Amino acid sequence: MDIIQKYMTRNRCYSSPVTITVKKLVLHSLGVAQPDSNVIFNKMNTNSAMVSVHGFIEADRIVQTLPWNYKGWHVGSGLKGTYNNCTIGIELCEPKGHTYNGGTMVNYDVNANKAYFTKVYNNAVQLFAMLSKELELDPIKDILCHCEVYSLGYGSNHADVMQWFPRHKKSMDTFRADVSKEINYIVPAVKKKISSVKETEIIEKQLT
Ligand SMILES: [Zn+2]
Repeated sequence: MDIIQKYMTRNRCYSSPVTITVKKLVLHSLGVAQPDSNVIFNKMNTNSAMVSVHGFIEADRIVQTLPWNYKGWHVGSGLKGTYNNCTIGIELCEPKGHTYNGGTMVNYDVNANKAYFTKVYNNAVQLFAMLSKELELDPIKDILCHCEVYSLGYGSNHADVMQWFPRHKKSMDTFRADVSKEINYIVPAVKKKISSVKETEIIEKQLT
């Protein structure tokens, strides 16, 4: 799995960065049927965009769009404040073909999307394992999805990723458990494939 770096340099989260100490990782899904992250990237890569994320997970690649220690605008705010101040936000790209009614997927074909889901889920497990290890986070305690952050009072009212995961018999608990399992043996393989040497240095600096 490759991690490609393509920063949203026009987004104010990149052009006027606020650095954060990452304490948790937030998993999102787009909430729209769009497997190509470039489409969403282009919307976010403007100086008037009000949202940003640290990366996108597609079926065959991971795109990092902000340095991990820059504050992003991905989870909104809730009654108690916002987790944007202390989290990395990663979006899973959703396959083509479905629509939404509020927070519910409509005409989602579970069988047709099984292979796609498995790919993005496994890519997410690998990325979250790498980040947990690098940032010394506990996958069981420190990984949340957007709807869980909302429930805790630190994010806006969105359903992701639990509008999607149960369709494939997954939950955030299975995800956290899978990340925990992967942490020891997948991480080196992922790390080797980071495409930019410079960013590897940045990550390592951040961690020492
Ligand atoms: Zn979200």
